[in-house]
Amino acid sequence: MATVLSVERVLMGRLGPGEDVLEGLTAVSVENGIRAAVLQAVGATREAVLGFYDQEDLAYRDHRFDAPMEILSLTGNISLKDGSPFVHVHAMLSDEQGRAFGGHVMPGTRVFALEYSLQVLDGPELAREYDPETHLFLWPRSGSAALG
Ligand code: ZN
Repeated sequence: MATVLSVERVLMGRLGPGEDVLEGLTAVSVENGIRAAVLQAVGATREAVLGFYDQEDLAYRDHRFDAPMEILSLTGNISLKDGSPFVHVHAMLSDEQGRAFGGHVMPGTRVFALEYSLQVLDGPELAREYDPETHLFLWPRSGSAALG
């Protein structure tokens, strides 16, 4: 059993030059009273930091991209952590040669431009909790679907 929510409205908007992806989308969430959403975006970054979660060390390893990149796909979600909207985003970026790189979007990822679509959801609260197994803040496991 998964948490069932329904789409209440769709917000479309833009972040401007120099804005941090995570800070900007968190601000949009707070301003619009968003507690849960599905996120998609395209655009370009001026600089980016993408994380790879090391499953042995249980820590993120950062990859920095200091050159302009296209955002081919940015996808993620917004849910609650400690009662506030928390933005979780992964991105696939490409350089001027068209080579693609991807990962978990980290602080310090600043856009040249970003067009986002937020499907704002309504329904039961979806909140992140510390998970000792992964050392990540995750959603509760889904009852009968959790098979260890
Ligand atoms: Zn992630």
